[in-house]
Amino acid sequence: MDAARDLLRRRFGYDDFRLNQAAIIEALLAGRDVLALMPTGGGKSLCYQIPALLREGTGIVVSPLIALMQDQVDALRQLGIRAAFLNSTQDADTRRAVETALRRGELDLLYLAPERLLAESTLRLLDDVPLALFAIDEAHCVSQWGHDFRPEYRQLSLLHERYPQVPRIALTATADARTRAEIVEQLALEAAAVFVNSFDRPNIRYLLSEGGNARERLWRFLEREHPEDAGIVYCLSRKKVEDVARWLQTKGRTALPYHAGLPEAVRAEHQARFLREEGVIIVATIAFGMGIDKPDVRFVAHLNLPKSIEAYYQETGRAGRDGLPADAWLAYGLQDVITLRQMTQDSDADERYKKIIHHKLEAMLGLCELTTCRRQALLAYFGEVRDAPCGNCDNCLEPPETWEATEAARKALSCVYRTGQRFGVNYLIDVLTGKDDERIRRFGHDRLQVHGLGRELNGSEWRSVFRQLIARGYLRVDVDGHGALQLTEACRPLLRGEQTLQLRRLKKASRKPKSVREKIAAGDLRPEDEPLFDRLRALRARLAREQNVPPYIIFHDNTLVAMARHRPTGETELLQLPGVGEAKLDRYGRAFLDAIAAAIAPSQGELPADDTY
Ligand code: ADP
Ligand code: ZN
Repeated sequence: MDAARDLLRRRFGYDDFRLNQAAIIEALLAGRDVLALMPTGGGKSLCYQIPALLREGTGIVVSPLIALMQDQVDALRQLGIRAAFLNSTQDADTRRAVETALRRGELDLLYLAPERLLAESTLRLLDDVPLALFAIDEAHCVSQWGHDFRPEYRQLSLLHERYPQVPRIALTATADARTRAEIVEQLALEAAAVFVNSFDRPNIRYLLSEGGNARERLWRFLEREHPEDAGIVYCLSRKKVEDVARWLQTKGRTALPYHAGLPEAVRAEHQARFLREEGVIIVATIAFGMGIDKPDVRFVAHLNLPKSIEAYYQETGRAGRDGLPADAWLAYGLQDVITLRQMTQDSDADERYKKIIHHKLEAMLGLCELTTCRRQALLAYFGEVRDAPCGNCDNCLEPPETWEATEAARKALSCVYRTGQRFGVNYLIDVLTGKDDERIRRFGHDRLQVHGLGRELNGSEWRSVFRQLIARGYLRVDVDGHGALQLTEACRPLLRGEQTLQLRRLKKASRKPKSVREKIAAGDLRPEDEPLFDRLRALRARLAREQNVPPYIIFHDNTLVAMARHRPTGETELLQLPGVGEAKLDRYGRAFLDAIAAAIAPSQGELPADDTY
């Protein structure tokens, strides 16, 4: 372990191991198999990178997304680590060169897609070389219960049979108890040491809101909180992705669409710009994001309801991997629930599977409608008990108002019943608010007692009532009946007057919480450090452009914050800062020290002019 600590300091530039990193590394160094569950940004990669460097032979990393291998390998090479990848994007010559390097023992780490690894020719190649370990990343892909099943992952159990002496580590950031059990079973990890970390991401602030006009609200949120930040906006459909991206562009933001319908080259370009430029917003379907390890994504926004809490957790998990404050913002409406139900219903999955999907959606909706701490509920979903509310979610920061809604709920339910459980929410609201039109008259509903009985609430307030009644299981959406609402058994006590009901009041836009930038300022970065921080960012951007790599591969924001704050004057001091190891010191130490010296030179008084960089 001393050697591991030494590597951590000298290569990676970090002082201490985090979470279970040390214990995991120790187990692998002792030749044990490991199952590691860590939240996104927890530092999973170090858990296998360090043992791969310390054990004899090459570490083989199995990862499902080939699009990111280039960046991962670039980042390792910046640290002076001999890494390469093999996948279908390479030509035969490049592949041969990598294979030769592997045979000669010149690789510390080799990244492979599962199908490439499982090819007999690759296995034969691996038979001949010493192997330090197998790391199976995104291990939840092995589970049918999980949300991202990949059949080829199932065959990875053969690694255990073919290379029993080589320790394996399976890693994932999302796995409830059932998925976890399936990983163990499918990958034959019964004897593995299991490390489960808290799933909490304390730096992410959860903000979930209901109701109409989601786009405008998104814009106000971006303007107020993230005027210059990079982030991801998720939408359900390709068309909406295109619309929202265009709309953000007209507002002056760099917003790029990403969905499976775009040509591969366009997608690759947009992803590359997101990684390499600063302040880019990606507007995407869920086709985007798996394995994106850009550390400085400051917000993830959902303009539609995600399918499950797992999906929500994973998608929002892409925010704030660097540990700095980040936002998970979500707006949802009744239409989302109906659309998602419809999509499940129309899919050709079997009934059991549809039921699972249905339950997952219910749980997600439950999280949205909650009036207590979101984080507590989110963690509870993953089996984690947290005693106190978090203080960093919307419900904690601004406890929602509730109102006595028993009477309103009864009116709504009775309207559903009297109109024959055949109508969708818009029609029901028209009846309740006493609209008098041709359709209502044709059905004779203008003569019902409930007609006009609900004039005390307006249309959006009624929508909120209906949505909450669905979320709480009093009403169900009949998907085959085009979104008609129907009563469930749960209604009875309410209708009989044996139960009362408190509902959440529609939120009005208010409050002005601190922006991330202000928060950084309040913490480590003093206002007087900001000009230097901006200079250092500009220098980083230039160095990144020269090498065609993302800026964060050079240094993360927190490293630049530390530089601006502590203003090191020599190499020894610079090495003390987080994220500065020997390889990076060699490459960039001089440039950054010069920039800092120029900024604090007493003779100069002023920062150098912009064109210095
Ligand atoms: P994930 O678990 O999401 O794969 P990564 O391995 O990408 O996370 O690590 C997230 C970030 O945390 C990276 O920027 C990494 O360099 C940093 N990190 C990992 N371990 C440590 C540590 N012990 N101290 C400080 N930073 C660390
Ligand atoms: Zn909370």
